[in-house]
Amino acid sequence: MKRRGLFKKIGATAGAAAAGFAAPAIGQGLMEWRMVTSWPKGLPGLGAGVERLAARIGEMSGGRLTVKVYAAGELVPAFECFGAVASGTAQLGHDASYYHLGKSEGTAFYTAFPFGFTAPEIEAWVKYGEGQKLWDELYAPFGIRAFLAGNTGTQMLGWFKKEVRSVDDLQGLKFRAPGNQGKILQKLGVTPVALPGGEIFPALQSGAIDAAEWIGPYNDLALGFYQVCRYYYSHGYHEPGAALQLMINEAAWRSLPADLQAIVKAAAEAANGDIWAEYNARSGPALRTLVEKHGVIVKGLPEDVLMACGEKSNEVLNEVYEAGDATVKKIVVDFLKFRAEVIPWTRIADQAYVNARRLPFKFGLKS
Ligand code: CA
Repeated sequence: MKRRGLFKKIGATAGAAAAGFAAPAIGQGLMEWRMVTSWPKGLPGLGAGVERLAARIGEMSGGRLTVKVYAAGELVPAFECFGAVASGTAQLGHDASYYHLGKSEGTAFYTAFPFGFTAPEIEAWVKYGEGQKLWDELYAPFGIRAFLAGNTGTQMLGWFKKEVRSVDDLQGLKFRAPGNQGKILQKLGVTPVALPGGEIFPALQSGAIDAAEWIGPYNDLALGFYQVCRYYYSHGYHEPGAALQLMINEAAWRSLPADLQAIVKAAAEAANGDIWAEYNARSGPALRTLVEKHGVIVKGLPEDVLMACGEKSNEVLNEVYEAGDATVKKIVVDFLKFRAEVIPWTRIADQAYVNARRLPFKFGLKS
């Protein structure tokens, strides 16, 4: 018990001292780590997904490493997970990397860059392109490493109180849109607002914002946006495959024996597929509920609006590159290179098939 207490204490500070302890000694101890998250308590999808991720680490390690999950605001505010993991307040953090653009613009590419990667494409880039290597380089100065640990799939553009018929309809809208999407919309006359998920509904209700994006039908239904907004727009070009990250305090990571490191990494990989699968399973039924039960009108953006968003996305990409340090520049260049390589395959594989399924042949049992 003495040892357990000792390692709990080390975990709590997770400073450089933790790295100094030999791995075998730590391997005999029982550790409890804290995982801060950006997700509202009990949020379906992400909230439940991180609970499964934490439980999996405990199960796979036979209880040697257990993880206690903190919802947004329980230990630190929703957008402060990065700092909490960097300082060692928590050994683990789960959120979206692009909440931390203030640390580096490079973080955007590990959630989603507008008109960037789909869910399978970002996983391909991180695991079999240069993505992980550049991510390690990006986070090293902060004493953090991260792995992909969840994906929402393609998101919805968002909720609107009024129809969007042209670019002019965007003028003056106060729109909850984080990160680069905020910058893109600002170029089209929108006032972007950054709010954690749990604060969107009251802001829509009070009129503090006119429009909002969050995730997709599964989570958006749960948060009740349909009660305030009638129009639900697709073409979620801004987050075509939004990835979530598991951040790990570097000193705490180095204090783990190799098998526990492998377990944490494998649990993150499992969460990546697990969370995406849940979104894919639940989004269709949730969309049907929104339309049939709540009378939501689902639309796609007019093509000229989408085109304008694409042009502004490219402007923002170039601004990020110009203003970026050497690491950000490398990430942008590699992102573009991988994107150019993967798109021809996606086009002839997934895209061609999904288009083929739209043909009006009958498909179902005869009776
Ligand atoms: Ca989103």
